[in-house]
Amino acid sequence: MKNSLLLLAATASMALAQSPAPVGPYTLPPLPYPPEALEPHIDAETMRIHHGKHHKAYVDNANKLLADHPELAKLSPEELLLNLDRAPEAIRQGLINNVGGHINHSLFWKMMAPGAGGPPTGPIAEKINQRFGSFEAFQKAFQDAAMKRFGSGWAWLVQNPDGSLEIVSTPNQDPPLLQGKKALLGLDVWEHAYYLKYQNRRADYATAWWNVVNWDFVNSLLETPAGS
Ligand code: MN
Repeated sequence: MKNSLLLLAATASMALAQSPAPVGPYTLPPLPYPPEALEPHIDAETMRIHHGKHHKAYVDNANKLLADHPELAKLSPEELLLNLDRAPEAIRQGLINNVGGHINHSLFWKMMAPGAGGPPTGPIAEKINQRFGSFEAFQKAFQDAAMKRFGSGWAWLVQNPDGSLEIVSTPNQDPPLLQGKKALLGLDVWEHAYYLKYQNRRADYATAWWNVVNWDFVNSLLETPAGS
């Protein structure tokens, strides 16, 4: 009797701990490669936790916030953040944090690839040279943005509406689209992105990360202004 009560209590508390987030509107996209694929630059355990726990939490929390707002749930994550005035004020910051986290991480996994890295190729190589002088000068400025971001956030290469490139940094999970800018390449500098392997050495993580940058994907994001 006592045992079965204990079992019942244990089952109940397990059910509570696993109390499911609503299914949708968003789902966690699978990693486009195995978690160990970016070794030794980004370790498998970091990838597993970063994707399976951190990104999943942004998706789950966004779904919870949208559970009572079916009209908002119909929008894409990007549309939703561009139309935040349609959301009740009480959930706006939560949407920026969690829908922003979902957008940023969905891009981040694709901005990296095994066997990638090295200098840029294709149209982005030319645009980087035009804007920053050289790939090395671009890397230095990007790295600087990553190092100067105090606390948690991101460093980005973005494209402005006029087609020009710019390096920016955003705090927390604010995506560049909130500033009207299109993300082309982003580096997550939250400690959860590097602490297991690099501890406090953000610069070492940022340096190693160049070895996995997926320039093909960056090129696919680049927008060519009409008429050019
Ligand atoms: Mn992250």
